[in-house]
Amino acid sequence: MISTTDFFKLSIISLALTTVLSACKADKAPQQVTLSASAATALNIKASHYHQVQVAGQEYQIFTDGQGLQIKSGETQHSSYSGSFNRLTLQPLSADSLLVAAMDSNDNSLYLWRFSPKEQSPLVLIRQQLISSRVVEDLCFYQSHENQQLSLFLLGGRGGADQLLLQQKQEWLAEPLVIRELNVPYDSKACTVDQHTAALYISEADRAIWSYQAEPEADEGRSLVQVNQPFGQLQGEIMALQVLPDSSLLALEEEPARLLHISSKGEVISQNMVPAFSAASGLSVKVQGNSTTAYISNEDADAVQGLTLQETMKTVVATKPAMVQVQPRLQTEAASQRGDVMDDPAVWHHPSQPELSLILGTDKRAGLDVYSMQGKRVQQLAVGRLNNVDVRYNLSWQGKQHDIAAASLRDDNSLQLFAIDQQGKLHNAGKVPTSMQEIYGLCMYQDAKSGSHYVFVNDKSGLIEQYRIDSNGTNWQGTLVRTLKVPSQPEGCIADDKRGILFVGEEDEAVWRFAAQAEAKSKGEKIILVDDKVLVDDIEGIALAEHNGDSYLVVSSQGNDSYVIYDAAPPYAQRLHFRITTNPQLGIDGASETDGLEVTTRSLGPGFEQGALIVQDGRNRMPEEGQNMKLVPWQSLLQELQKQSQSK
Ligand code: CA
Ligand code: CA
Ligand code: CA
Ligand code: CA
Ligand code: CA
Repeated sequence: MISTTDFFKLSIISLALTTVLSACKADKAPQQVTLSASAATALNIKASHYHQVQVAGQEYQIFTDGQGLQIKSGETQHSSYSGSFNRLTLQPLSADSLLVAAMDSNDNSLYLWRFSPKEQSPLVLIRQQLISSRVVEDLCFYQSHENQQLSLFLLGGRGGADQLLLQQKQEWLAEPLVIRELNVPYDSKACTVDQHTAALYISEADRAIWSYQAEPEADEGRSLVQVNQPFGQLQGEIMALQVLPDSSLLALEEEPARLLHISSKGEVISQNMVPAFSAASGLSVKVQGNSTTAYISNEDADAVQGLTLQETMKTVVATKPAMVQVQPRLQTEAASQRGDVMDDPAVWHHPSQPELSLILGTDKRAGLDVYSMQGKRVQQLAVGRLNNVDVRYNLSWQGKQHDIAAASLRDDNSLQLFAIDQQGKLHNAGKVPTSMQEIYGLCMYQDAKSGSHYVFVNDKSGLIEQYRIDSNGTNWQGTLVRTLKVPSQPEGCIADDKRGILFVGEEDEAVWRFAAQAEAKSKGEKIILVDDKVLVDDIEGIALAEHNGDSYLVVSSQGNDSYVIYDAAPPYAQRLHFRITTNPQLGIDGASETDGLEVTTRSLGPGFEQGALIVQDGRNRMPEEGQNMKLVPWQSLLQELQKQSQSK
C-alpha cells in the first residue's frame, strides 16, 4: 500500500492537494518530481519500525522496539502492546481511527489492532492469527475505494503471497479470507500498494522492483520497475517500499543504507545515503503541506533517522469513484482444463420445475458442458471446439417435442445443434454447414409471428448469417435466409423475439441493431459506442432482460472487467455500470475478463426466483482453478437499477 502511516497523512494532504489542483488532476501523467534530501536528522526515538501520523487531530508516533508496539504523543506514552513485532504497517479507517498491522516473529502471527485515540480503549487487538502458509517478509494494505474492499497482502519470502480480504463495503469479515494467492519472486522482501493506481510493488532481494495489479480479480502479469546494476540502478537489498501521493516510489536499500526515489515509470529521480546507519530496514513517509519526510529505521532499533525531502509534488492521482458491486450466489464447477476454456453460457428452463433448469456453457476446447442449478456438471457433450451457444423452445425431433440449443463449432465452421428433451437431457442433433471461414459468435431467434426458429451466426470478418432451422418431425435442417454485415470482428449477439430485433456486438467498436425478421432489410444501426470509460473493448457477451414491460441490454465490458445495463430502446440510455465482486460468505470470487453472459428474468428456483445474470469468469480464484460461470440473482440487479433511477 501506499505507506501506512503516512498514508493517513497522505490522504489528508492529497485531499487538500486534490482540491487545489483539481484543474490538473485525473488523466494527466503525474508530473516528475525532484526530491533532494536535506541531511538526515536523528529522532529522539529508537525503533525498528516507525510511523508518524495524525489521528483524531493529533500527532502520534507509532513504532516497534525491543518491548513491542509503542504509541506516543510527543513525550507522552499513550499505549503499548508487548511482543516481538516486525513489519509494522498502518491503514487509516477514518479521521479518528487507524488500523495497525504487524507480524510477531516469535509466534509467526499476524496482529491487527484498531487505534482510536478518542475511545476509552484506544488500542484494541481485533485479530491475532497464526500464519502457517508463509514466512512473512512484509505486510501491505490495499484499500480499493472503487471496489470497496480492504485487503492485506502477506508477502512471503519463498515465492508466494496471500491477499487477505478484511473488509467489504465497510463491513468486517468474520474471518479474513484469502481472496488470491500470488506467485511472486523467490526472495521477495518488501511490498507497498499505490491505492490510487492499484499498483502492488514488490521488491525482489537486490535484483528488481516489480509492479503487479493489486485488484484480486486482475490478471497476474507484472512489469519491471527497476533492476540491479549493470542494467539498472539498484545496488543493495530493497528492504522497504513506500508510495508518494504523485504515485512515485521510495525504495530503501539495506546496506549501505540508501534511499531511492523512483518515478512510477521506473526512472530513478534521486538517491540519498542515510549516513547514520550501516544498515536500514524500515521506511515510512509523512507528507505535510510542501514537505515530505522519510523516516528510516533498522532492526537494531537505533534512533530513527528523518530525511526531509524538498518536494514539489504537482499532481496527486485522483481516487476513482466507488462502483456498484453485486455478488454471485452460485458458481459452476470449474472447467477440467486450465486456460481460456469457457466462453458462453445459455439457460434452459425446465417446463414446470424452475429448480431443474440447466446452465449450458461452451468449452472452447471440448464441447458443451451442462450444469444443474447447484452448479454441478451433469452432462458433457464432446462435440468439438464450441464458441457460443443459445437456446429456444419447442421444435419437434425424433417424433417428440424437444427444445433446441445451437452452438458455433470452430472445428469445421458449422452450426452444432442439440435437442433437449423434457427431462433436460441433451442429444446431438446434427450439424448445419456454413460457408464461414472463422465462425465465432451465435444467438438464436424465434419469429413471434411465424414461430420459425433461426440462428444468427457471425464470422470474425464481420459477416453475419441467418439460418432458419426447420423440423420434418424427425430431423432438423438449416437454410441460409439472409446475410448481414458489421465492419470488424463481432461476437456476442442476442435477439429480442417479441420485438423482432437483433443486437450484435462489434468487439472493438459498438453495439449494432438490426431487424431480426428474415424478410427485413439488412441495414444495421450503431446504437452504443465503446467510450473507453464505461464501455471498454472488447464488447463481449450481450443479453436481454425483460422486466415489467421494460427491456434492458446487459453487456460485458471486458476491457475494464465490468458490465453495463442500457435501455434496449432508443436512446439506449445507460442504466447501470457494475462489477461482480467477492461473496465472502459463500466463498465465491468475483468475476472478471468476462466473455459470454446470459440473463433470464424467469425463476431458476430458490435464490433465483427473479432469474439470474450468468457470466463466464475468466479468472476463477479462491482457489485458483479452471474457468467457470458465476450466477448473480437478477433481484440484486433490479435493486441496483431502482437505486440508480431514484438517485436521478
Ligand atoms: Ca476469454
Ligand atoms: Ca471475443
Ligand atoms: Ca473470478
Ligand atoms: Ca467469446
Ligand atoms: Ca471460485
